[in-house]
Amino acid sequence: MSKVLGIIGGGQLGMMLTEAAQNMKDEISKIIVLDPTKNCPASKAGAEQIIADFKDEDAIKKLSELSDIITYEIESGDSDVLKKLEENTEINPSPDTLRIIQDKLTQKQFLQDNDIPVAEFANINNKDELEQMIERMGLPLLLKTRRGAYDGRGNYKINSKSEINDALDLFSGKSLMVEKFVKFEKEVSVIAARNTKGDITTYPVVENIHENNILRITIAPGRVSEEVRTKAEKIAKKTMEVLHGAGVFGIEMFVTSDDKVLINEIAPRVHNSGHHTLQSCSTSQFDQHLRAILGMDLGDSSIKYPTIMYNILGPKTFQGEYNVLFKKQNNIHLKMYGKLESKPQRKIGHVNIVDKDNSGVNELLNQVEDLKKNLVIEPKQT
Ligand code: AMP
Repeated sequence: MSKVLGIIGGGQLGMMLTEAAQNMKDEISKIIVLDPTKNCPASKAGAEQIIADFKDEDAIKKLSELSDIITYEIESGDSDVLKKLEENTEINPSPDTLRIIQDKLTQKQFLQDNDIPVAEFANINNKDELEQMIERMGLPLLLKTRRGAYDGRGNYKINSKSEINDALDLFSGKSLMVEKFVKFEKEVSVIAARNTKGDITTYPVVENIHENNILRITIAPGRVSEEVRTKAEKIAKKTMEVLHGAGVFGIEMFVTSDDKVLINEIAPRVHNSGHHTLQSCSTSQFDQHLRAILGMDLGDSSIKYPTIMYNILGPKTFQGEYNVLFKKQNNIHLKMYGKLESKPQRKIGHVNIVDKDNSGVNELLNQVEDLKKNLVIEPKQT
């Protein structure tokens, strides 16, 4: 029997989940998203929308009454509220899994308790404890807010003791932790899926290049040694085994110069570094997520075509309606998220550059450089 799917969050991830769900007519009859922005990307793609804040308890309750199964594209939902609703509506990944992941300290502790490698970390309640940790771990180190931060906004790299007060002032009133600064060689990620029957699959490890803490480029598969590839994929599998959550997860990792692989962060949802799967794999991460939460067999996650994903961000120079100028090419797939307004440095679309004729990663990187020069986001003339 086909089900009504509820999604908390209707941004670009909710939009691409909606599009995948629309191709599963036998399994999913209707999609409803909860999102505060009128005409959010998912609703423009055809989902019904409840316009409300992600934390609005009545709205979440309403979504659960209207849906057979609930999932989410953001990790900031209220896990306690979701836990109460779980008695009547299936929620995947489960609120218990969400609760572990939402708090960076709980997440790191959980990974460490399960012998999964992470950077040294500690809870911090006050300045004295921070000073003690600086003595123990050395500098630089990262002061992090435990909850609710994204794109590195909750991180402060402390390079010298003179920065302690500034760092604590910036996050005043927030729960904090510290983490040893990892001198990583590369940032990589693995998109992993676990279905409700407990089957697990992982996509090949990819390489992520950030600018100002925002993901700009994903290279799939990543340029890493066989040893690192095996380690990263093994760590991702083990994480999925211990977390018990059903759905797709984005597992971000650091690779050090001596080929150590450490988990930085887990996202309990489809992930920006998995957008390449729309063209590179026969089962996209969005299809896979739906298959996982509906208890279907998981699809093939192997990469058929090496692909580079490039994120399109709103230019720093203006905010408002915009036009995209773009030179079409056969192997370049542009996906805009239907956001009416461009905001500086916010993701408004991505392109996948697909290697269909085995030209190699360097040729794809040349195409990225070309694209950077030729893709123009300009204010719409009124
Ligand atoms: P986060 O929001 O915690 O995932 O961090 C955003 C970015 O900060 C990561 O993609 C890394 O580039 C950097 N970062 C986070 N934690 C560490 C760490 N322990 N050592 C070095 N860089 C880090």
